[in-house]
Amino acid sequence: MNDQIKVTGSCHCGKIQVSGKVSEDMVIACHCTDCQQFSGAPFRPVAIIKNEDINIDGEVTEYTKVADSGNERVQGFCGNCGCQIYARATDKSVFNVRTGFLKQHHSLTPKKHIFGKSKVAWIENISKAKWHVAGPESSEMKP
Ligand SMILES: [Zn+2]
Ligand SMILES: [Zn+2]
Repeated sequence: MNDQIKVTGSCHCGKIQVSGKVSEDMVIACHCTDCQQFSGAPFRPVAIIKNEDINIDGEVTEYTKVADSGNERVQGFCGNCGCQIYARATDKSVFNVRTGFLKQHHSLTPKKHIFGKSKVAWIENISKAKWHVAGPESSEMKP
């Protein structure tokens, strides 16, 4: 049995609460074009959690996308604040939970990358960009 991490999180506005447990090796980074489009980010990390290991409270808005293969994936998000919660199988057997809203997301290191064929061209070089501790209004950013 792999080490399991207990996870908890809520959407930005707090209407949806999620808790569950995930095996350390069931965290992946998805670089598919749908993840890029839905998130506006280069990839989405997800924790793959079985139905019996997850609890979701609050009303999740769902959108079903149909892949080129014909596969349906249900995308769950908060209809109020837009926070992305999961993608799930149509039979609800498995939830791919977006790790960004989970409190433990620093511990949820992706163990593999998938859909590398559509990774953004600069993904390998992103750490070379200058790092700032705070945001654009902070003093270190002022000339
Ligand atoms: Zn919300
Ligand atoms: Zn994806």
